[in-house]
Amino acid sequence: MVSLEKEKLEIPKVSELMIESEKVAHVQIGNPLEHALLVLVRSGYSAVPVLDPTYKFQGVISKHSILEETLGLEDFELNRLSDITVSEIMDTDVPCVHLQDNMMDALYKLIDYPFVCVTNDEGEFDGIVTRRTILKQFSKHYHEIFKHLE
Ligand code: AMP
Repeated sequence: MVSLEKEKLEIPKVSELMIESEKVAHVQIGNPLEHALLVLVRSGYSAVPVLDPTYKFQGVISKHSILEETLGLEDFELNRLSDITVSEIMDTDVPCVHLQDNMMDALYKLIDYPFVCVTNDEGEFDGIVTRRTILKQFSKHYHEIFKHLE
């Protein structure tokens, strides 16, 4: 925890807030879109991290980008799903944080993204921090603050 002087407010570290990699659904960079869509639909998530075989973080793949890619002039060309790999359409311009960063570092990045990935100095994937987790933290703190004001 990072303590703010004279105040009892403590800002949690990313390491305390993240969902650890073992519990995060992900796909491999070389997987065909068919497999990625299966993972996304089965898990119920709209986007998941993409890793390489050495567990390094490479980007994010979303249901939206897969559907957009397969949308032809009039209908979805789902037969193309097995011909295209995740690496061809994944989003690589996504923010990351480190284990030692704090909640505020994650918060700023979560304004534009539903989750941020946590990586180490070698780029290996440690987990994710989600908007839900941050909102729960804020909700907890506000309740505590208002309890003291009553
Ligand atoms: P939430 O704030 O819990 O709605 O999560 C935001 C987003 O984070 C979800 O839409 C998913 O894209 C991603 N996410 C959350 N939990 C997981 C998980 N266990 N595995 C993979 N992606 C996740």
